[in-house]
Amino acid sequence: MLKIEHIGIAVKNIQQSNDLFTKLFGKAPYKLEKVESEAVSTSFFMLGENKIELLEATDVNSPIAKFIEKKGEGIHHIAFEVSDIRSEMKRLQGEGFTLLSEEPKKGADNKLICFLHPKGTNGVLIELCQEIKAVDK
Ligand code: ZN
Repeated sequence: MLKIEHIGIAVKNIQQSNDLFTKLFGKAPYKLEKVESEAVSTSFFMLGENKIELLEATDVNSPIAKFIEKKGEGIHHIAFEVSDIRSEMKRLQGEGFTLLSEEPKKGADNKLICFLHPKGTNGVLIELCQEIKAVDK
């Protein structure tokens, strides 16, 4: 893994939270994006090299809806950048980690993503993400 790519925060109302975090950070999100595969609306803030993602469920069956139901709003996941997501997924499986999908999925912000089961990572939901290159499209 190369670095923390972003931290994901689960929110109930992304419009209100965009206003809140815009006040907090003193800058507006650079991107708003719906991700159909995960049933979420997202927004991204850039602070220097650090990125914060807000996520709101667009559907009651969204993983974000289930998370908020169980734990309330708050930090949902930490995403790590990898250069080759498929080989990293294979490596982690070999180390005994459980992946939440067999194949990388298309995530927000031009990334291929895959989550690790938090039961195997001390309760921390970890996302792998790789920038989509022309060849992956
Ligand atoms: Zn994320």
